[in-house]
Amino acid sequence: MNQKNHQAEEFQFQAEMSQLLHLITHSLYSHREIFLRELISNSSDALSKLHFNSLTDPNILGDDGELKIKIDLDEENKTLSISDNGVGMSKEELMANLGTIAKSGTAGFVSQLTGDAKKDVELIGRFGVGFYAVFMVADEVSVESRSYADPQGHRWVSEGTGTYSVEAVDDLPRGTKISFTLKEDAAEFGSKYRVESIIKKYSDFVSFPIELNGEAANQSKALWARPKSEVSDEEYTEFFNYLSHGTGEPLAHLHLDAEAPVQFKALLYLPQESAPHLFNPEERDSKINLYVKRVFIQSDCKELLPAWMRFVVGVVDSEDLTLNVSREVTQHSPVMAKINQYLTKKVMGLLADWAKKDEEKYLSFWKSFGNYVKEGIHTDYGNRDKLLELYRCQSSAHPDRLTSLAGYVERMKPEQEEIYYVFGKNRQAIENSPNIEYFKKNEIEVLYLIEEIDEFVLSGVGQYKEKSLVTIDKADLKLEDNQPEEEKESLQDSAKEQILERFKTTLGERVGEVIPSQRLVDSAATLVAPKDSMGANMERMMKMMDQNFQGSKRVMEINLSHRLIQNLAQILEKDAADSLIDDVIVQLYEGAALLEGNLENPTEMVPRANRLMAMAAELHLKSLA
Ligand code: ADP
Ligand code: MG
Repeated sequence: MNQKNHQAEEFQFQAEMSQLLHLITHSLYSHREIFLRELISNSSDALSKLHFNSLTDPNILGDDGELKIKIDLDEENKTLSISDNGVGMSKEELMANLGTIAKSGTAGFVSQLTGDAKKDVELIGRFGVGFYAVFMVADEVSVESRSYADPQGHRWVSEGTGTYSVEAVDDLPRGTKISFTLKEDAAEFGSKYRVESIIKKYSDFVSFPIELNGEAANQSKALWARPKSEVSDEEYTEFFNYLSHGTGEPLAHLHLDAEAPVQFKALLYLPQESAPHLFNPEERDSKINLYVKRVFIQSDCKELLPAWMRFVVGVVDSEDLTLNVSREVTQHSPVMAKINQYLTKKVMGLLADWAKKDEEKYLSFWKSFGNYVKEGIHTDYGNRDKLLELYRCQSSAHPDRLTSLAGYVERMKPEQEEIYYVFGKNRQAIENSPNIEYFKKNEIEVLYLIEEIDEFVLSGVGQYKEKSLVTIDKADLKLEDNQPEEEKESLQDSAKEQILERFKTTLGERVGEVIPSQRLVDSAATLVAPKDSMGANMERMMKMMDQNFQGSKRVMEINLSHRLIQNLAQILEKDAADSLIDDVIVQLYEGAALLEGNLENPTEMVPRANRLMAMAAELHLKSLA
């Protein structure tokens, strides 16, 4: 055969890649053994892809149809190689897949790096680190690969620092071989016994045979296909770790064997924690792998659970689909829809059960996945009523416990008809808001919504058990007037009108309306949303998304029983031109806007406050004399 001379080319890693590699090789020592799991999992993916393609085109297997993973260990020289006869990679694929993070599962990880080594290592545990984990145990790694779709093979070599090289290599078999010499401090992985036990621990379930130095090393028996009674807790946890590339315990698992209306087996896990929730309808990933009669068909199968349950990890194995299904077919298959219904009901049932019987467990679920449930309330209309039972939030009733809507309704006063909620940055900000004074005084419970998604979701719900959900932030509150007559304002009707009128002319375009308040107790004034508006927080969000968004104007409510307002009304009667009046009015307005987090321009507030203080000190001094 005529051997061509191939030149190796040098390339630079993407910048974030170097950062990731540095972190992996320098800070992650506790779970170094996962490097093997990551390499085996990549081989298994490559074999699955080839197998899937061969369902429609059997020719691509050629005479190399026995799909497997081979691990060769030289105990003496401490060299290790992992090879598979899967899809392989072309030169372009080698560069794109191993030189950039755009495609890799590690991308999500890198986007969350904090720069704080300790936190980042915890993060690594939660995401799989993928291929690059190999640099924890090797100084230099060689990847030889030939794509099933391309006769020319290539070798990729890197020390995992700034650069890598690629050169063409002739006569490579189809698939990928990763080889390296173990670092001195990683010599422990050069023992056959150690490698065997790592395979057993993490990769026993890989559905292709794994051979270690020519001997079978895994059972490759589908765990989900075994009867529940024969699977130990440890095996469940190991499989969870295999699926999620993690190292911890799941919160729970569901092992299901359904006969009707469709026949399938499933093993689903609820993890302990997940990536932060992003409310993005486009972001519809899934962690469910689909098998048909024990044969892997596809990973991230979105049709098997509603989008909001995308934190669930697991496998579904159907007897009712044909083997050569394509993604297009599975998307519209009635079988998939039925499995989805069944699984959704089971997961919801488990959650409802915890919510009822095991509050501690439910709250630990809620802490990690509450926002996913909220998303479900918004998007999964068919399950909305059940999901509302799972909803939890803070409330004025308990300083340190979350409440359900059912709990709120139970505590409602007999004459109370509506469920009140308020949105705020945190508990303290809410409790200091003038808008809550009336509710405090009259001991009416208010739900405290702290996260933006809460207001968004609850305002869309409208009702719970025939009770309207009403934000206390809106102007059309129908409040019982419980104030004793003697505490009522002593202003004449004409004085009332005059002072309200003066607020309007002074504030002009800044507010939509000025009206007397029923909700204020200790404060002189507050801002609320006009009825039928979106609420302050929603408007803030809209403004962030759209620079030109014009929110509705706020309504200013005035507490006519307040001393300050009454004094102001008297000054107005005596001398309408007194500049103190306008200063106080604008100060009240800006103070209220500041409390809401909506004061756009604070530059006039401070000199005005100083002016008012100077006046107060002057008067005070006179009264002391
Ligand atoms: P992930 O597996 O989450 O995508 P990795 O870092 O483990 O991330 O791998 C990056 C990519 O490299 C894979 O998506 C795959 O395209 C490619 N790759 C890695 N190992 C192999 C292999 N043995 N055969 C074919 N492609 C591979
Ligand atoms: Mg991988």
